[in-house]
Amino acid sequence: MKSILLTGTAGFIGSNFVPYFLEKYPNYNLVNLDLLTYAGDLQNLKECENHPRYKFIKGDICNRELVEFIFNEYDIRGVIHFAAESHVDNSIKNPGVFVQTNVTGTFTLVDVAYKYWMEKPFVYKERFLVDSSHSFRMTDSSHSEPNHRHPEPSSRHPEPSSRHPERSEGSNLPRFHHISTDEVYGTLNETDLFTEKTPYAPNSPYSASKASSDMIIRAYNETYGLNTVITNCSNNYGPKQHDEKLIPTIIRNALKGNPIPIYGDGKNIRDWLYVLDHCKGIDLVYHNGKKGETYNIGGRNERTNLQIVDKICEILDEKVPLIRHSEQSEESLRTSTETLHSLRSLRVTNLCHPEQSEGSSYKDLITFVEDRAGHDRRYAIDATKLENELGWKADENFDTGIVKTIEWYLNKYGITK
Ligand code: NAD
Repeated sequence: MKSILLTGTAGFIGSNFVPYFLEKYPNYNLVNLDLLTYAGDLQNLKECENHPRYKFIKGDICNRELVEFIFNEYDIRGVIHFAAESHVDNSIKNPGVFVQTNVTGTFTLVDVAYKYWMEKPFVYKERFLVDSSHSFRMTDSSHSEPNHRHPEPSSRHPEPSSRHPERSEGSNLPRFHHISTDEVYGTLNETDLFTEKTPYAPNSPYSASKASSDMIIRAYNETYGLNTVITNCSNNYGPKQHDEKLIPTIIRNALKGNPIPIYGDGKNIRDWLYVLDHCKGIDLVYHNGKKGETYNIGGRNERTNLQIVDKICEILDEKVPLIRHSEQSEESLRTSTETLHSLRSLRVTNLCHPEQSEGSSYKDLITFVEDRAGHDRRYAIDATKLENELGWKADENFDTGIVKTIEWYLNKYGITK
C-alpha cells in the first residue's frame, strides 16, 4: 500500500479523478486535502466517502504545519496537485488570493514534499550517491537542520538531461505531479498550436499565477533533482464542474429559460477536453512520464464559444423543450419535475441571436455581453508528445462528450428524459 496525497479533490477535475484512480489502483491509499472554498463541494465525492482507501482532510495547502503533518502521518509517497483558484474572472477582480493559493500553496507543498522525501535514504540519497556522473552532492544531514538539507551544486554543471536520473516506468521514486493549464502560454494566432516548447506568456492573473507555480515545480527538479512532472491541459468539461464556468452556465441558464451570456462576439476559441480523458492523461504521466518533463494534454476539439453554445442548444432542443423559467429558483428546478412540465408550454421571446427565428430554440436565449478584460483569443494544444511517448488518446470527441455532460446536468436537475 502506498499513500498518495491529492489536493483540491472536491473541485471539478479532482472529484472526477478520485473515483477513477481508486478503482484503477487497489494498492493506493488516497489522502485528499481540500480547503472547501466556494469551488469545492463534498457532494462531488459522495460516492467515495466510505471507501476504505480514501481519506478526506479539510485544510489549506498554504498551511505548512498541516502539510508536514500529513506527510508524516500518512508517509506520503506521491503527490498529484490539483488545488487552485481556477476562475479567470475571479482573478481579475481579486488577484491576491490567486497568488496566495496557486503560488504560495504550490511552493509549500513542493517544499514539504522535497524535504520529507530527501530524508528517506532509500528515496533520494541512494539515487544521488550511486550516480557518479551526478553534479550534485548531498549536504551532510548530521550537520544541517532539516530545513537546510538541499543539495548544493558542485562546480561542474552538466546539461539538465544528464543531471538527474530519469524516471523509468515502475520506478519507486516518489513523484510530484503538478496540474496546470494551457493558459500559461498566452494567446494564439489562427494557425499555431501550443507545444511544450512554446514560451510562457500569461495574460490574466490566473494564468500568471499558474505559470509561476509551474516555474517553481521546474526549479525543484532542476535545482534539487525532485522527481516532478507538469501537465498543461486545455479547457475541461464534464460532470461536476462549478456553475461559474462556461458550459454549466449555458446549460443552467438555458434550462431556466434565462438569457445565456456570451462574452464579446463569441468567437474566442478554446480546445475542449472531456474531463475523464484529462484524468486518463494525468494517470499516464504520473506513472510513466519522464522526470522533470512537461506534457500538454488537449483534445484537438477547437470550438468558438458560439459553436459551443449552439451545440448545447441543439441537443437541449431535442431533449427538453424550451421553457420560460425566469421567476423560478434553481432549487425548484432541481426538485420539481412537475414545475418543469408546467412551464414547458411557455416560450421565451427575448432574442439576441441573429440567425434564429423567434421562440423556436434555446439558441434564442443567447445574449452577447461585454467582453472579459484581456480575453485571450485562441488556445489550442498540440498533444503529440503525450500521444507518441505515452500512447494517450482522448476517448471522447466534443460531440460525444457534450451529450454525456448534458445528460449528467439533466439528471442533476431532476430532468431525465
Ligand atoms: P476547481 O476550481 O473546480 O477546484 C479547485 C479545488 O481546489 C476546490 O475543491 C477548492 O476547494 C480547492 N482549493 C482552493 N484553494 C485551496 C487551498 N488553498 N487549499 C486547499 N484546497 C484549495 O478547479 P478545477 O477546474 O478542478 O481545476 C483543477 C486544477 O486543474 C487547477 O489547478 C486548474 O488550474 C487546472 N486546470 C483546470 C482546467 C479546467 O478547464 N477546469 C484546465 C486546465 C487546468
